[in-house]
Amino acid sequence: MLNIGCHLSSSKGFLDMGKTALKIGANTFQFFTRNPRGGAAKAIDPADAKALMELMEANDFAKILAHAPYTLNPCSAKPELREFALMTMKDDLSRMEYTPHQLYNFHPGSHTGQGLEIGISQIVELLNEVLRPEQTTTVLLETMAGKGSEVGSKFEELKAIIDGVKLKDKMGVCLDTCHVFDGGYDIVNDLDGVLVEFDKVVGLKYLKAIHINDSLNDMGSHKDRHACIGAGKIGLEAMKRIINHKDLKALPFYLETPNELDGYQKEIELLRSFAK
Ligand code: FE
Ligand code: FE
Ligand code: ZN
Repeated sequence: MLNIGCHLSSSKGFLDMGKTALKIGANTFQFFTRNPRGGAAKAIDPADAKALMELMEANDFAKILAHAPYTLNPCSAKPELREFALMTMKDDLSRMEYTPHQLYNFHPGSHTGQGLEIGISQIVELLNEVLRPEQTTTVLLETMAGKGSEVGSKFEELKAIIDGVKLKDKMGVCLDTCHVFDGGYDIVNDLDGVLVEFDKVVGLKYLKAIHINDSLNDMGSHKDRHACIGAGKIGLEAMKRIINHKDLKALPFYLETPNELDGYQKEIELLRSFAK
């Protein structure tokens, strides 16, 4: 069975997201841990978290994916922004233990002119400070489009980050189809080749989740503009190959397409109808 869901609003809590997912035919979902632009997080209601875990268990849910706020930048040139990233991720990861054994995704960051090498070393430093041997959450680096000074649009950069992390078993990668296409990886004409390269450079065992988005722009454009499934430059045929690829089909897929709930429901139905 295809494990698929979409990004949902967390404003009404955990159980509400689980019920919404069920309503639109999803068996997983993604949510922001707090306001995507940053700021304080709402207190977690342990009973609400437990109720979601029970709903997930009863309905064969795949792991859910928590997304860190966009403003979190572990490799900013400004020390106060790196400190904010550290405090936010520490807090997020302690909150994640109310919903144990799930996934937490973040954008590796933008080096803001410091250069890749310094950027990567700052990301590594943050991860080595926040990861705990006892945590049950797997922390995912998202593949980026390479906009501005973004780190993580090349597989080699993700590999360099993982190499520096001590607790490697807590780490993984979330592959965003729009972002890798934007980053110059031809998942339309050479999906096999891209995945062989990912395996060679990073290792497929680190691949834990897929953001399934079409792209408004051409391959290699570094723009990061998501399109609805089949309405962009990746296209429906490539999407069919992606969800059915032997290395990907068992992973959870999360839509981040420009949709409201009814649009997400249609895309979930569409992709389910293609799943072999
Ligand atoms: Fe993201
Ligand atoms: Fe994404
Ligand atoms: Zn994006």
